[in-house]
Formats: sequence, structure tokens, C-alpha cells
Amino acid sequence: MKRRQLLKAAASIPLLSRMEWLRLADARAEHGTSNQAFSRVRPGDATWPSEESWTKLGHAVEGRLIQVNSPVSACREAPDSPACHEVFKALRNPYYIGDHAGLTQTSGWVGAWTSRPSVYAVAARKTADVVAAVNFARENKLRLVVKGGGHSYQGTSCAPDSLLVWTREMNAISLHEAFVGQGCEKAQPPQPAVSVGAGARWLAAYEAVTTRRGRYVQGGGCTTVGVAGLIQSGGFGSFSKKYGLAAAGLLEAEVVTADGVARIANACTNPDLFWGLKGGGGGTLGVVTRVTLRTRELPSFFGAVFGKITAASEAAFRELISRAITLYSSQLLNPHWGEQMRFGPGNELEIAMLFQDLNQRQAEEVWRPIREWLDASKRDFTIVNPIKVVAGPARLFWSPAILKTFSPNAIVMDDRPNAPASNFYWAGDRDQVGQVLYAYRSAWLPVSLLKEKDRPRLVDALFRSTRHWQMSLHFNKGLAGAPAEEIAAARDTAMNPAVLDAFALAICAGGGPPAFPGFKGHEPDQTLAHRAAGAVAKSMGELLKLIDQPGSYVSESDFFEPKWWQSFWGTNYPRLAAVKKKYDPDGLFFVHHGVGSEAWSADGFTRVGSGQGP
Ligand SMILES: Cc1cc2nc3c(=O)[nH]c(=O)nc-3n(C[C@H](O)[C@H](O)[C@H](O)COP(=O)(O)OP(=O)(O)OC[C@H]3O[C@@H](n4cnc5c(N)ncnc54)[C@H](O)[C@@H]3O)c2cc1C
Repeated sequence: MKRRQLLKAAASIPLLSRMEWLRLADARAEHGTSNQAFSRVRPGDATWPSEESWTKLGHAVEGRLIQVNSPVSACREAPDSPACHEVFKALRNPYYIGDHAGLTQTSGWVGAWTSRPSVYAVAARKTADVVAAVNFARENKLRLVVKGGGHSYQGTSCAPDSLLVWTREMNAISLHEAFVGQGCEKAQPPQPAVSVGAGARWLAAYEAVTTRRGRYVQGGGCTTVGVAGLIQSGGFGSFSKKYGLAAAGLLEAEVVTADGVARIANACTNPDLFWGLKGGGGGTLGVVTRVTLRTRELPSFFGAVFGKITAASEAAFRELISRAITLYSSQLLNPHWGEQMRFGPGNELEIAMLFQDLNQRQAEEVWRPIREWLDASKRDFTIVNPIKVVAGPARLFWSPAILKTFSPNAIVMDDRPNAPASNFYWAGDRDQVGQVLYAYRSAWLPVSLLKEKDRPRLVDALFRSTRHWQMSLHFNKGLAGAPAEEIAAARDTAMNPAVLDAFALAICAGGGPPAFPGFKGHEPDQTLAHRAAGAVAKSMGELLKLIDQPGSYVSESDFFEPKWWQSFWGTNYPRLAAVKKKYDPDGLFFVHHGVGSEAWSADGFTRVGSGQGP
């Protein structure tokens, strides 16, 4: 990027200092990323690796090189066959999807991307497999892609014509009583921790740490999300208002960088890489093979509050929104409470909150006033599902046996024959399994909007947003109200600092069942998609009017996010770009709207100089 262009860009991005942007430009110029012709190789190109080269790679990874096929491809020729129907049925099971190299948890996004398999995958079991794959991709100019749990909404863990590093089988878990990071012997006291293979699902980590050991590790809410992907996103779980970002709990990672070296990254060894991994976005700095996370004391109780209410008129709905927001600011904006309230068309409020460290009686007390008010206002409201509070021993929260007995509707089991009995996912995530997205927008809402004088504006904007689409407030995905030490730990990550004083992440999204363009009978519904995208944009637009510098969570955001570098990382982007330049100077690791992606074509195959980014 030329200096003049850069100054223009800097002027339009007030949050980043001019100096920071100039440093970024100098870094680019020094490395010579501008206008260099460089294209990666595709099958059919003269320089695509020979059969012999692939065979050699296969030997190097002890047979774990596989040709990737998507089970969906069977439907191209025979869309009405029973086999094809079976595949589409199976695409509603996240464990089935997760066990296929050629599938991802989102089947695509209309107008953005479609899930398509790589040509080959290294189904890595150990670090040496990853090293071999990274070296092979670099030496042969291949498009490299990394997949763990496959939950990327933005399609960043799949790419046609690529080599995939698939970490699914790198899922060992071990607990430590007194962990000290390599090189940190003099700097850090030993602490309880858990080491988890990059491809493990969060459910496995919770089983090991909470169900079996009676401790807590901060991870994600969805049980089938991959551990390393979430950590690199920043990562929120239901109880993040108490325990902070998942990334902030990272003590150490092992990472294979673009030069094929397996490095340790922690606060004492490669601290810049360590910082970048904490929220800098997956698939950009290297392949993480293992993470070590701090574990905490488990509270006595976890619990949930559910309910659904509809208002008989718009005026009553405004009042309901106002009561809900007032309840949130006065009683729920603290480390006890997380998860969601959803405000929807049809004047509907859905409550799906989780809490920690309160017993049943204490939690009931918090909700008593709003219940009493609703009971006294029967003419204005229909209680579709009464507000119900349930608390139980925290240690049993992820125990499928207990959930099946006491809360069978809250979970869905992996229904494949011979599936491990422990495989379950939350029923609340069911609609997202295998879905094709029509639209997805998110924005952090500053806590200042909860001030008494600003609350009416927030209530009004929420009401107006629901005239178009459902708006969900994910309270656990903003750190305002969290303990000071968790906010300080989050400040030391690469995430957009907007997360620190946000009380919630507002998410507005729409999608349909699994669908793939060109597959007769299984095509995405373009009309619905178009309508949903328009309505979601209008709905989020109402909230965006309230925010000066909107920030968005990299992993739960719009594929078409305009100033993505600013939205996802804010003032941290130049520092992240410098880390990228140091550890991946030639851009081996590319993901859509990832750090450094502005230097590449949309498919990650061609270097386009300075790109369209900052
Ligand atoms: C149904 C659903 C529920 C979700 N719930 C939550 C939630 O509760 N909280 C939350 O914070 N987020 C949530 N997310 C977002 C999710 O955390 C991110 O998409 C996360 O990055 C997924 O990680 P993954 O390994 O499952 O996905 P993948 O698609 O496999 O990976 C995501 C990104 O990380 C990269 N990556 C994966 N593994 C590695 C590795 N070992 N080394 C380097 N790069 C790697 C991939 O290349 C890709 O770019 C949810 C997503 C879905 C679809």
C-alpha cells in the first residue's frame, strides 16, 4: 500500500493511531508483500505435486494422508436416492459432521461460500504429522487449510483445491496439579491446568475437568466446537461473565509455524505469538497442536432460567423490553449471569439464561419481581412458557446420564449406532447443525447504553429491530460486569478491546436446513435467503445507530463485514499484523478476513499486493 493511500485509510479509522498504520505499511513494504506475483498451485497445474510426491508425504505421516470426499457428493448423481436422504439426515448430527474430513458444521452461506472438500487431508495424530503437512504445503505452493471442530461460520476451515490439516484425532487430554510453562519457571507459580489436543471438542474437556475432576475450565458453550479454534477466536462460554475469555485462560500452546518448526508459545517463550493466538483468529499464525489452559475451582451450583412471553400490543411489548433491560442492568449484570434474551417479531421475549454460584432460592428471588409483574398484567401478556428456574450441582452440568434423566429436552444425543454414550449437544444448538446461512450480524453493545438516561434509546432500538427479525442479546459475550482480574486478562489478548466494556454481543442471524448449490432438491432457498439478509441488515441497523465504533466477534460475525480488521481487532490489528509478518512472512496461512488476508485474493490463491484491507 502506498503511503498516500495509507494516510487516507488512517484518516477513516480513528481508533488506530496514524503511527500504528504507518508502521504496518512500513512492515509490508520492508517485506515486499506489495504487488508480487505469486499464485498457489491447483490440481491440473503443471506444478501440482506428482503422485510420487503425495505418496512420499503419505509415508511421512505414516499413512494418515487421505483423499477427501464429501459424503454429499453421492447426492449429485442420485439426489432422490435413499443414500442421499440418509446423508442429509445425518447432516443434522454434529458428531457425524465432525467425523468427516470433507464436511463442515455449516454447509455454506448463500452468496458467500459453500462447504467444499480439500483434495487431500493429513488426519494428524501427532505434531510430526502437522510439521510434514506444513512443509509439504509450503514447498509445493499449496493452499493450506486447518480444521478442528469445523464450526467456522465464515467457511475458514474448508477450501477446494487445498491440502487440509485435520486435527480431529489430536484429542488427548491430561490434567496437571501444578503446571509451569516452558521457560516460565522463574516467572510464574505452578497452577492447576489441563492440556488438550487441538482437535478435541469442548465436551471432552468438560468431562475430564468438571465431571471427572470437579474443577472448571473456561471453554465454549456449544459442546462440539473445537478447542483450538475457539481459543484462537477469543472464546466465550456460558459462564464467561465470571471466568472471562477462554483465550485469557491459555497458559501455553504448541504451534507449528509456517517454517515447519514446532514452537512453544507462552508468556515467557515467544510471547508475541502467544498473544496473537489469544483471539487473533484461527488459521492465521500456524497450526496449534495442543493448548494448556488454567483450571479453576468449581462453584457449587450451575442453573438455568427459561421462559417465553408474548405481548398483546406493541405498547405492552415496549414495556416488556424495558422491564427486561432494567432487570438485566439492576440484577443480572454481574459474574453470576450469562447467556441470552431474545426479542422477536410477534412481540415475543424468550429467556434462556444460565447462572453460576447461586442456589435455586437465590436465583428464584432475582426473577420474583418480574414474574409478579407479569402475573398482575395478564391482559397484556401471554405466558407461553412460564419463567422457570432450575439449579443443580455444577459438577453434573455436563453429565449426559443426569441430563437425560432430569432434563431430557435440553439435550440431543449422537444417534449413530456405536456412538459413545457421552456424545450430546444442547437442543438450543439444534437448528444450527449443518445449516446454510442466509445472514449473520453481530455487534458489541457498550455498557453505557444501560445508563438510566440512555436505556430508553436502547429499548426503543431493540423494539424497532424486532419489527424486522429476532435480536438476541448474548450477555456472556461481553465482559462488562465481569471481575476486574478477568477484564485485565482479556485486555492482554488480541481481541477487539470493545469486548471489555460491552454488556452483551447482539446477534441477529438467519439460516435454513443443510443445502448445497447445484444439488437438485437440496438447493438453498434463494428467495428466503434474500429476504432474511435484508431483514437481518435492517434489524441490526437499528442497534448500530446507537454505537459509534461497532465491534464484532470474529467467530460470530458477518462474512461481508466491511471494515473487518477494525471490527474484529480494533486497535490491536497493527500489532497482530506484525506477529503475522514475523511468523508467517509469506502468508502460508490464509483465511477469509483473517490477519494479513488483505494481501490475498478472496480464495487465498493469489497474492494481490496490498489487497483491499486497511
Ligand atoms: C453451533 C455453533 C455454536 C457456537 N458456539 C460458540 C460459543 O458458545 N462461544 C464462542 O465463543 N463461539 C461459538 N461458536 C463459534 C466458534 O467458537 C468458532 O467458530 C470456532 O473458531 C470454532 O472452532 P472449531 O475448531 O470448531 O472450527 P473450525 O472451523 O475447525 O476452525 C475455526 C477456525 O480456526 C482454525 N483452526 C481450527 N483448528 C486450528 C488449529 N489447531 N490451529 C490453527 N487454526 C485452527 C480454522 O482454520 C478456522 O479458521 C459457535 C459456532 C457454532 C457453529
